[in-house]
Parts: sequence; structure tokens; C-alpha cells
Amino acid sequence: MVKETGYYDLLGVRPGATLDEIKRAYRRLALKYHPDKNPGEGERFKQIAHAYEVLSDNHKRALYDRGGERAMKEGGMGGRGGFGSPMDIFDMFFGGGVRMPGGPERRGKTVVHPLSVSLEDLYNGATRKLSLQKNVICSKCNGCGVRDGVDSRCPKCHGTGREFHVHQVGPSMIQQIQTMCSQCQGQGEWVRPLDRCLTCNGRRVVREKKILNVHLDKGMQDGQKITFHEEGDQVPGLEPGDIVIVLDQKEHPVFKRIGNNLIVRKEISIVDALCGCKQVIRTLDNRTLLVSSQRGDVIRPGSVKCIPNEGMPVYRNPTQKGQLILHFQVRFPEPGWLPPDRLRQLRAFFPPQEEVMATEDMQEVELSDCFPQGGHWWHPHAGEAYHEDHFEEAFRPHVQCQTS
Ligand SMILES: [Zn+2]
Ligand SMILES: [Zn+2]
Repeated sequence: MVKETGYYDLLGVRPGATLDEIKRAYRRLALKYHPDKNPGEGERFKQIAHAYEVLSDNHKRALYDRGGERAMKEGGMGGRGGFGSPMDIFDMFFGGGVRMPGGPERRGKTVVHPLSVSLEDLYNGATRKLSLQKNVICSKCNGCGVRDGVDSRCPKCHGTGREFHVHQVGPSMIQQIQTMCSQCQGQGEWVRPLDRCLTCNGRRVVREKKILNVHLDKGMQDGQKITFHEEGDQVPGLEPGDIVIVLDQKEHPVFKRIGNNLIVRKEISIVDALCGCKQVIRTLDNRTLLVSSQRGDVIRPGSVKCIPNEGMPVYRNPTQKGQLILHFQVRFPEPGWLPPDRLRQLRAFFPPQEEVMATEDMQEVELSDCFPQGGHWWHPHAGEAYHEDHFEEAFRPHVQCQTS
């Protein structure tokens, strides 16, 4: 039993969720609430990151399950900010921001941006423009931050970044203490505000708008990453990091994609199911398919039929396509839809019904509709989502792990 469910609720998972479920939930929500897409949801983005940080770590999760948020604070997560920066967690999760621990920094940070795409974009291919702000080295001062000809060494410490203080500690004893230079905070460089480069105001870099042309190839997947090498923020003395674009596919109103297959739910009438039917399907490239069931076929509720080569194009081999799968629901008529005398006529079309003889020792009862009683409720369709999952599993390719 867990003490609190706040973090689980934030991610929309059960308290018993597996790490995989937690990752999937974080992935979906973090893309949704990323400041690129939802600038007003900064707080939510942060909370999701905190929840993920705790629940994805066995030790922290155990601590949270036992003692809730309070235990997290007491256990050290509360001190000095405790949590990692939400943006760092996001970047790490999507493979950005990775730096050799302890090693010298040679490259700037890799930054990850989500990009919303439609299923049509992934089917047909597309070019999307993504507008970003990034730091570039100031061209006026070449990244040194001072005006031409100005010596940027700190006058107080002469560029060493250190200061020495002499204390009298006894009648004939002095002590020399070395501290960080208070003028330049140990940087060794300091100039008067007047001498700062006017273009970058001494910051060495300027903010610039950059448009990236993102090419979406046919068949690309939700969650796929596209890397723009060295397009990240520029920092004097470092190689720029990369920009990574993560594709975030919007839900499609008609089709669901599983691997290279497209699934479409079709509700048909019982007449269609028994007598055969024709369906019209608009494809993602705007063609119209007229789909007929096979002569004499019976379509059972929940059954699937497919149209080969009408699914998603295969990435890097787009002339090949997956299957278009029709998942059938059969609409049954309402009670009392046919008067009893017509029912007899209908019966004539079906194989004879099994006759049950009523005998003396039987007790006659009648079926009625079910309603919840005493707070207990069982319904065969209560597990609808569960069935859907199983259905999806059946079509999911076996090799797939894009999230981490
Ligand atoms: Zn100094
Ligand atoms: Zn400058």
C-alpha cells in the first residue's frame, strides 16, 4: 500500500505501474506540456518532471511509497533544490544533455525540442519549419565580451582570480589568507560596464532566431529523433551541442498506427455482418478505397480483416507498406425490433434452435438486466481497455523500444 498517490496521479498511472509504463506516461505528458508547445504550463511541466524523477528511481520511489512527499524532503530530495531541473530531465530522457561526468566540458549541451506532426505528415512525408532561439557567439567582439582594445584582465587580482588578505593574529604573527577575488568572482576578467561590448552587453553571446528545416521522411515513427549536429547554443571555447527534434504524433481521428499497420474501427450493422457489406475509406493521401467483404463471408464482432499494402509506408523503403486493418464492431438491433410473427419468419433462415423441454422438477425464472448491487459490480466490458491493449499487442512489432 502506498502512502500517497500524488506523483502517480500526475503521470496518470496506477501506483503499481511498471517502469515501462512510467516512462511511457512521462514521455507523452512531457511532450505535451513542453514549454515549446505549452508556454503557459511551466508549472505542470516541472511537476511531471519531479514525479518522473522520483518514480523512475527505485530508491526514491520506495522512499516515496513509504512516506509520501514528506519523506522525500526528509530523505534529501528537499535540500538545495533537491530535484533536477525539469528541462535537464527532459533532455536526458530524450537523449540530449549528455555530458561525460567529471570530464572537461568540450561541447555545449544537446537540447531537445518536441515537434508535433500529423499522421498524414508521417505517411506522405513533409518539411516543417521549426523556429528556435539560440545563443550564438557575438560577432562584434568575437565572444570576448569587451570593446576593441580594452584589457579585460581584472585590475584587482591582475587576472589571477585570487586575493590575499593579511591578518595580525598575535603580537608577532601574521596570517595570509587566500580568497576568491571579490571583484571578478574568481574569473580573472573584469571590465568597467562602459568597456563592455555594446552588442552583447558583455555576455559574449547574443540570442538569435534560427529556422530549422525538418524533413519528415515517409514512414517515420512517433518518438523518432532527428539530430541537427552542432546547431545548439554556442558557448565561447566550446563546440556547440546538437539540437535533437523528437517527433510527437498527434492522435488521428480515424486511424491508429501500430508499427507499420494502420487500424481503423468500423461499426457495421448485423445485416452487414451477415450479408456482406461495402465500406468507404479515405486514405491518408486522400484516395478513396471502396472495400467489399468477400462473398458469403460472415463478420464476427471484434474480428479483424485486412487490406495488404494500404498501411504506413516503411521508413527508408516507402514503396512497401504495412496493412490496413479493419477492426469490426457489430451493431445489434434494439430489443423488440421485430414483431413476434416476423421473428418466426426470420428464424426460418437459421439452423433449427435447440429445443428445451420443461419438466416438473424445473423452476422457471426469467433473465433481467443487471444493475450494481451493494457496491459490487462486474461487467464483461468493464475491461474494454484491457482488450484493446491485447488487440494492439497482437499487431505490435516485436522489436520496439523508442522511449529510452
Ligand atoms: Zn579579479
Ligand atoms: Zn560582443
